[in-house]
Amino acid sequence: MDAHQALATLKTGNQRFTEFVTNNQAIVVEHNHQPASEGQAPIAVVVACSDSRLPVEHLFHCGLGQLFVIRVAGNVLTETQIGSVEYACSVLGAKLVVILGHSHCGAVNAAVDCALSGQAMASPNLAEIVEQITPAVDQAIQQHGSEHPIQIAQTAIELNVHNVCHRLIEKSEVLQSIPELNVVGASYDIDSGKVSFLD
Ligand SMILES: [Zn+2]
Repeated sequence: MDAHQALATLKTGNQRFTEFVTNNQAIVVEHNHQPASEGQAPIAVVVACSDSRLPVEHLFHCGLGQLFVIRVAGNVLTETQIGSVEYACSVLGAKLVVILGHSHCGAVNAAVDCALSGQAMASPNLAEIVEQITPAVDQAIQQHGSEHPIQIAQTAIELNVHNVCHRLIEKSEVLQSIPELNVVGASYDIDSGKVSFLD
């Protein structure tokens, strides 16, 4: 499946998912017919936040074997995550990578709090996540001014997705060498269930 077909599949799946959310129905995930033991050929890689309200397969209405999912707070990318994307694209053949941010993201909110207060996270491990999101927060503060933390966070969510898309390509010669690869940013609204793909 090429990147265009994979993106269309995710969009259709998410449309169906929003109907489930709207109707408050139990989520039924269809599974692939191919036995799992025969290997995997995921249609897309999704790099998403670890937030428990972001069940990636559910929100695209995808089944077993369809998505190669990497989840980390703030949907940031360090070497191990970039290596995971490289594996999924160069070995498993996925042609689409989706970087998925979401509304009410705690990691982005933490980065906004740190930037506005001038204080760092106590844990160096948490500080590393915040550090990766900080360039997006700084851009958002320039746009809105420091008195509007809610707007700053909303803007920073999308800017962070854009930054992570660029960082992924910039840091990976393997991904640069796959011409048909498509990296797209997206944002999930946890109230409606809708995923908006960013330009
Ligand atoms: Zn989050």
